[in-house]
This record gives sequence, structure tokens and C-alpha cells, in this order.
Amino acid sequence: MTKYKLEYIWLDGYTPVPNLRGKTQIKEFSEFPKLEELPLWGFDGSSTMQAEGRSSDCVLKPVAVYPDPARTNGVLVMCEVMMPDGVTPHASNARATILDDENAWFGFEQEYFFYKNGRPLGFPESGYPAPQGPYYTGVGFSNVGSIARQIVEEHLDLCLAAGINHEGINAEVAKGQWEFQIFGKGSKKAADQIWMARYLLQRLCEKYEIDIEWHCKPLGDTDWNGSGMHCNFSTAYMREVGGKEYFEQLMAAFEKNLEAHIAVYGPDNHLRLTGKHETAPWNKFSYGVADRGASIRVPHSFVNNGYKGYLEDRRPNSQGCPYQIASQVLKTISEVPLGAQVSAAA
Ligand code: ADP
Ligand code: MN
Ligand code: MN
Ligand code: MN
Repeated sequence: MTKYKLEYIWLDGYTPVPNLRGKTQIKEFSEFPKLEELPLWGFDGSSTMQAEGRSSDCVLKPVAVYPDPARTNGVLVMCEVMMPDGVTPHASNARATILDDENAWFGFEQEYFFYKNGRPLGFPESGYPAPQGPYYTGVGFSNVGSIARQIVEEHLDLCLAAGINHEGINAEVAKGQWEFQIFGKGSKKAADQIWMARYLLQRLCEKYEIDIEWHCKPLGDTDWNGSGMHCNFSTAYMREVGGKEYFEQLMAAFEKNLEAHIAVYGPDNHLRLTGKHETAPWNKFSYGVADRGASIRVPHSFVNNGYKGYLEDRRPNSQGCPYQIASQVLKTISEVPLGAQVSAAA
């Protein structure tokens, strides 16, 4: 038997954006534990905005498991928060009721800022560094500093070793701003991995005395870019059948559901989706081939393949809840009779 360090990780009850929480318990297993072998656990919900003072126990239900490469015999356990009965999802549990479909694929592009001493990493104590331009995909100390690349590389290795589908990294447009991409088949699988990648990044940065600023427009109304979490998506029907007529129906459904999408695409998005800096205004739906100023960008490959493949919704922001984003995309897709192949989660 081996003693494993199980890190139970969950989302707390803070609004509009939950925080990641985690605590460790040690359990013995003969080999790396399977999801079914992991017990329910509890925590004090009154300390996480998930319960009143009296009767404050909440239940943690393991829903995904990954090796924790940063710890000897470590296990990362993604959990849903349940009511004390262990079966009723807690009000803060955004995952339990979302739409899922293993043939719906999601690629999230998570942007964020490194922050130190209350400002983006590499910003001078007062004022601003040289304007945006050389930082995106940049190289060299004056563009990316001395520590950011070390962190993103370590984060990449941690994700890959944990079995998370990390697909790439790039330095972003603002100084101190970076992006990683996560791909997953099924909304729960993809979204669990985004949360776990966020967790690993925040935990990694502790030793560097650096924080992650997830807000979508941390530098306010300036010429500094905000942070998005573009959602690339495709269903089996989009990849295998597609067609222009279906595509146009799909875009009409997205236009009709504009408000439902914006409602779950992350807080303060009106500060970011202004129409400037490669964004479309939040209150006007648009799409366009290779158009990075549109709500939905249609890749060249999509058109060239007979309107088949994936689309990129550029509106979700860096603080968006990936469970709700993916679910809303599937909900809108399911409204188009042709190609509606979305099953509700159990
Ligand atoms: P951008 O040019 O917008 O910066 P990225 O390379 O950062 O593009 O991200 C593209 C994303 O699209 C990746 O996360 C990738 O996994 C995702 N993707 C690629 N093919 C598909 C597909 N068929 N369905 C869903 N997502 C996909
Ligand atoms: Mn990208
Ligand atoms: Mn980007
Ligand atoms: Mn993108």
C-alpha cells in the first residue's frame, strides 16, 4: 500500500467569480487511485460563502482525477460541491447541470496577467512601459522579462505530466500578459482541465511571489489589451456534415441568444468588448472569415472545407466559467434542428 496525498479542489461560493480552494487528505491505495475509489469529503462552507454559520458542512464529490506532478504520490482531485445529503448539487455548483456531449470539442485560450506589487509583471513602479507592439509572441528580456518564461514552461510541464491537454503558450499583447490553450472532448472534460490548469498556475506562482490577475480588463480604459478566453468549438455534425446552410442557421441562433451568451461569458465584459483591440462590441453579434474583430471568427479552413470544422467565439473572457460557457454554446447549437446532437448531463 502507498500513502497518497489527495488534494481535493473545488470552487467556492464567491460571486461573480468563484475562487479555487483545496485541502489535502492522506489515504492508502495499492496503486494510483481511480475516481470511483475516492471518497466523498467535507469542508466548512461558512468559510467559503457556501453556508451559514450553523449547519455549515458541505460535501466534496470527486469528479475528475489527475496525477499531481509537484508532489510525491500526489493526486489532484477535482470536486463538485454538494449539499450535506451528498447528492443534491450546491447552489454554487455550476458543473452539475451543464449540457455535455463527448463529441463536442472545446479549445479554450486562457489569457491572464502576471501581477507583482499590484501591477503587471515588468511594469515600472509608476507610469507605463513602452507601448504594446513587441510583447505579443515576443522574445528577449526587455519584452518578456526574466521570470515569466520560466513560469509558463514549468506550468506547461506540470499540466502535461498531470495529463491535462495543454496545447500551447504564447506571450500576449500587453506586457506581463500570457496565454495558454487547453483542448478537451466534452464540455466537462475541457472545463475541468481549464480549472485544473488555472489551479496549477496559481499554485506554481506562490513560490515566485507572483499572482495571476484573471480580470478581463485590469488596466481599465487604456490602450492596454484585456484578457479573453476564446472558446473554439465543434460538434460531430459541424466537423463531419456542416455546410453553409447549417452554418448560417447556427449563426442566427447565436445572434438570437446574444444575451444568454454574454451573461455567462465573464463579468465586466463590457469593459473589454468595446470594439477596440481586436474585440467586437459586446452588444452586437457579428461573424466573419478570419475576422479577429468579430464575435465569432470563422477560420479559413472552415470555409475551405465546405463550412466544416470548428468556430471561435472570441467573446468569453479570462474570468468566465468554462462550464457555463461550454454549456451555453451547446444550448444554442441544440436549438438548430439540423445537427442538434446535444445530450443533457445526468
Ligand atoms: P488563435 O489564433 O485564436 O490565437 P490558438 O492557436 O490560440 O488560436 O487556439 C486555437 C484553439 O482551437 C486551440 O485551443 C485548439 O485546441 C482549438 N481547436 C482546434 N481544432 C478544434 C476543433 N476541431 N474543435 C474545437 N477546438 C479546436
Ligand atoms: Mn490564441
Ligand atoms: Mn490570445
Ligand atoms: Mn483566439
